[in-house]
Amino acid sequence: MGLWLPLSLLFVVILMLGYHALRQKGKKYRKAIKDHQAQLIAKDSKLQEINSKLQEKDSENLQLKEELLKIKSGKEKLKDNLEKYRKENKRLQEATKKKKRQRSDAGRHRDVSAPSNKRTGKPIGAKGGGLKNPNPKEIDYTRHWRLDSCPKCNGSLKNSNPIDHHDHHIRDLEKLKRGIRLVYTKHVIYRYKCPHCKCLVSKYFGKLKNARYGIGMIAFVLYERLERGGSWEGIRTTLNHVIHTKECVPTVKAFIDWIRKYETEMWEVYHAFLDAIGQSSFAHVDETGIPMDGQNWWLWVIVATEVVLYLPSETRGSDAMKTSFTNIRASCCPIFGALIIS
Ligand SMILES: [Zn+2]
Repeated sequence: MGLWLPLSLLFVVILMLGYHALRQKGKKYRKAIKDHQAQLIAKDSKLQEINSKLQEKDSENLQLKEELLKIKSGKEKLKDNLEKYRKENKRLQEATKKKKRQRSDAGRHRDVSAPSNKRTGKPIGAKGGGLKNPNPKEIDYTRHWRLDSCPKCNGSLKNSNPIDHHDHHIRDLEKLKRGIRLVYTKHVIYRYKCPHCKCLVSKYFGKLKNARYGIGMIAFVLYERLERGGSWEGIRTTLNHVIHTKECVPTVKAFIDWIRKYETEMWEVYHAFLDAIGQSSFAHVDETGIPMDGQNWWLWVIVATEVVLYLPSETRGSDAMKTSFTNIRASCCPIFGALIIS
């Protein structure tokens, strides 16, 4: 009985101590949990930040991909056009060959009299010009070309009368306020016998001498070809829509003759373009394959602020561009494999 009281007191003390220890532990755990939660929240917000950045990058990536696709499709179109040109060229060449073969009088003996004057007239067997002079009633403008002075000796012709004249008809496109139309111009060219140098002289027309089409028509065709990249047959179709007079639509041969005839003028324009690109603060340059006389050439496309120049070259290297532009820094653009001149 004497031991029971101290034993029970000891038991109660042990219980109280145990309870206190348990409470302390609980407090510690709760604090640890709180700390963890705070850490988790901080980590979560960081993750969200990273996620939004990733999304931004993703959308940027998508945009870049779209741009790349656009550029690629542009390149494909250019290739398609080139392929079309090649096919058209081949077809035209074959058609010309066929025409040559299909002469109506091929193999037949033809009696032809010797020409009385060897200096004039077309070669024997050559086809007629095909383009007749317009009906006098349909002529829109008549221009008279008299001379005040001799183009050879510069002597005055004011007191001289012309000895004769000849008419030269030109078909041309005239720009009106609301569109363009085909006009016939009759040029009356007077001939004089110069009293000073005794030469027969008349107004000199330069490259337009004997021309059947005026500079308006030539400019229209060259624009359609060089600026819009049209095919020769395509340009003829357009002209047929515009002028409704079939016999006045020039032939493909006439188109090509103009290109040859006005080569000097085109070189001048080309050099002016080069100068403009040289003065531009930047230029974007890219290239694509182009067949040239059975060989693989490269067509360089140079885009500057105000000028776009297509430049065929035998080589693909950036040195080809550097030689065309002195005083210009050229570098490679790593994204599209293109060259940027700045
Ligand atoms: Zn003279």
